[in-house]
Amino acid sequence: MTPAELTELLAPHGLSAVESRRIFAHHVQHGRRHWDVKHMAKVKLARAAELLDTPTLEVVDRRRDPADNFMKYLFKLADGALVEAVRIPIFDDKYTLCLSSQAGCPLDCVFCATGRLGFTRNLETWEIVEQLRIVRDEADRPIRGVVFMGMGEPFLNYDNVIRAARIFADPSGGAISGRAITISTSGVVPAIRRFTDERHPYRLAISLTAATRARRRSLMPAAEKTWPIEELIDAAREHAAVTRQRVTLEYVAIAGVNCGADDAAALVELLRGIPVRINLIDVNDATGRFTPPSDAERRAFIDALQPLGAPIVRRYSGGKDVNAACGMLAATG
Ligand code: SAH
Ligand code: SF4
Repeated sequence: MTPAELTELLAPHGLSAVESRRIFAHHVQHGRRHWDVKHMAKVKLARAAELLDTPTLEVVDRRRDPADNFMKYLFKLADGALVEAVRIPIFDDKYTLCLSSQAGCPLDCVFCATGRLGFTRNLETWEIVEQLRIVRDEADRPIRGVVFMGMGEPFLNYDNVIRAARIFADPSGGAISGRAITISTSGVVPAIRRFTDERHPYRLAISLTAATRARRRSLMPAAEKTWPIEELIDAAREHAAVTRQRVTLEYVAIAGVNCGADDAAALVELLRGIPVRINLIDVNDATGRFTPPSDAERRAFIDALQPLGAPIVRRYSGGKDVNAACGMLAATG
C-alpha cells in the first residue's frame, strides 16, 4: 500500500496519518521482522498488526558474477512461481535494482529468454516492493535506482507497477528519486499514453528494436501485431513533447538482422524530428541463435544514425556468466 492507502485503512481504527506513515516507513525499512515502531502506543500497533498482512518472498538462490559484481536473485512466490531480480553495481558506491513485474511474459519477442518461458501471472504490488526490500536489506551499499527491466512487461501490469514506483519514490518508503526509476515497455501504446497523461516523474524507455513493421513483426511479433510501430512512434513523440525530454528508445542489436544500412536509413526516416536517445543493447543469447554485431557492424550502424543528431548510448549488460544480463532471465538459475 501507498501511505495514502494505509492511512485510509487505519483511520477508522484510530490511527492518525502520521502514525500510518510511521508504520509504512517501518515496514519498508524492516519488513515483517519486527513491529517495534518507536513513539507509538502498543495497543495501536497491535491493532495495525492484526489488520495488515505482511507476507514476504522466499529467496531460492543468489548468484554473483565475479567478473563485474552483478548479482542475480531468484525468488519463489507463494504459489511456486519463480521470478528474478538483478542487483547492478553503479561505480563503487551504489546499486540499481532491475526488477520483475510479471512471472514470465505474455509477449513473445524471439530474442528474449523470458518470452520463451510463457506467462504465469502478474505480480502484486507487494511482490514487486518485496524484491527491493529483500535485496536492500542485505546490500553493502544503498540502492539508488530501480529499473523495471526484469521479467515481464510492466505496462501489462500497470497499476501494480505504478503503485510500487510510488512506494519506491516515497521519502519514507524506498527514498529513491523518481527520476532514478525507469519503466521499460515493449510498446503497450494505450499504457504509454496513460503514463504520459498522468505526468509521473518516472522515466520511460521504449523497446523499439526494429525500424519497420515487417522487421519488428519478425522480432517482436505479439507487440507489433497489437500495437503497430506507427502508433508506437506517435505515442513516443507525444511523450517527448509533454515531458520536454528526449524519449529513450532501446534497440537490441542483432548481427545480420537489424543493424544494417537499410535498418539505419529506415530508423532515421522513422524518427525524424522526434527528440530521442538511443540505447543500444548487444543481444545476449545463451542458445547461440542470435549474436551481437561485430565492432565494425555496430560502428557502421551508429555512424549511419548520425543524421538523427541523437545521443546513442551503448548499454553495458552485465552478469552474463550467471545469466543475469538483459534478455537472459528465465528463472532457471
Ligand atoms: N518487457 C519490457 C521490459 C523487460 S526487457 C521490455 O521488453 O521492454 C528489458 C530490455 O531488455 C528490453 O529493452 C528488451 O528489448 C531487452 N532484451 C530482451 N531480450 C534481450 C536479449 N536477448 N539481449 C539483450 N537485450 C534484450
Ligand atoms: Fe516480454 Fe520484454 Fe522479453 Fe519481450 S523483451 S518477451 S516484452 S520481457
